[in-house]
Amino acid sequence: MFDAAIVGAGPAGLSAAINLKQLGKDFIWFGSAGGGKVAKSELIANYPGLGLVSGGEMDRRFAGHAAALGIAPEDKLVTGIMPLDGKYMLLAENQVYEARAVILATGAVAAKGLPGEQEYLGRGVSYCATCDGFLYRGKRIAVLCASPCYEHEAAYLAQLAEETFFWPAYPASALAGGGLTRLSGPIARILGQDKVTAIVLADGTEIAVDGVFCLRSAVAPAVLLPGLPMDGPHIAVDRQCRTGLAGCFAAGDCTGRPYQIAKAVGEGNVAAHALAEYLADAGKA
Ligand SMILES: Cc1cc2nc3c(=O)[nH]c(=O)nc-3n(C[C@H](O)[C@H](O)[C@H](O)COP(=O)(O)OP(=O)(O)OC[C@H]3O[C@@H](n4cnc5c(N)ncnc54)[C@H](O)[C@@H]3O)c2cc1C
Repeated sequence: MFDAAIVGAGPAGLSAAINLKQLGKDFIWFGSAGGGKVAKSELIANYPGLGLVSGGEMDRRFAGHAAALGIAPEDKLVTGIMPLDGKYMLLAENQVYEARAVILATGAVAAKGLPGEQEYLGRGVSYCATCDGFLYRGKRIAVLCASPCYEHEAAYLAQLAEETFFWPAYPASALAGGGLTRLSGPIARILGQDKVTAIVLADGTEIAVDGVFCLRSAVAPAVLLPGLPMDGPHIAVDRQCRTGLAGCFAAGDCTGRPYQIAKAVGEGNVAAHALAEYLADAGKA
């Protein structure tokens, strides 16, 4: 079992990882590729000590810092976290990990995902093409693709399914053919009874499907860890970055505004130190 698990490899997760490493903790660090916001910034002008720096350059420096310490995130999406007997079980790509404490550094994510997404998770809604794709061989599915970096997963699903209704949530996607039908508009909700039965588009069109794949780099906190106390779309934390669940900490954009790198880095630091204190107090360090 690990002392800690960090979910998220943006500035908050990196800062938590650097500090847990310095504190001598044994941890596992998850960060799904394709979700990082820092690299998307054209120019960062408000991070102390670096002057004007492009997002790409800052991202490289962050990765270099982690590499210099011999740490790197596992490129895996964590799809479920469950508190159990004073520890946490994390599910990532069909593998279960155990940790005494958790730091959520997942960035700003819509509070609940699509209407129906949480309700039918595991009953037709999936986040992982390689884990669950085979269940939909010869069936009808919908694929919500949040970034071009998941198009290969959408293409893989289209090979398996009888018909794949595809919605790329970004301006340009060249993915077409091979069993894919491009939807005319975004998916507004997921319908079902025991299991998923249909999707409804923003214009009200209903399409019968057996499953819905949401290919994103993040999972909404309320879906990731059911029962986690929220403050609107954000995870509720105190000044030590403690959430309402013992042993669960949160840092960065996921705890609220301002959405800024310096705040994320600061909270990652606070969360790591609070986690170390928690382990010591609980006699787990
Ligand atoms: C275009 C743009 C320009 C910006 N410019 C500036 C600026 O000039 N100055 C400034 O201070 N800030 C700027 N920001 C904001 C800044 O990028 C964010 O505040 C910062 O990245 C937040 O860090 P974070 O670690 O909280 O979240 P993020 O950077 O969003 O990182 C979260 C990471 O966690 C991963 N993740 C989420 N859920 C899971 C899961 N379930 N399993 C595995 N991994 C998961 C995501 O994939 C992502 O990589 C800008 C943002 C954008 C988009």
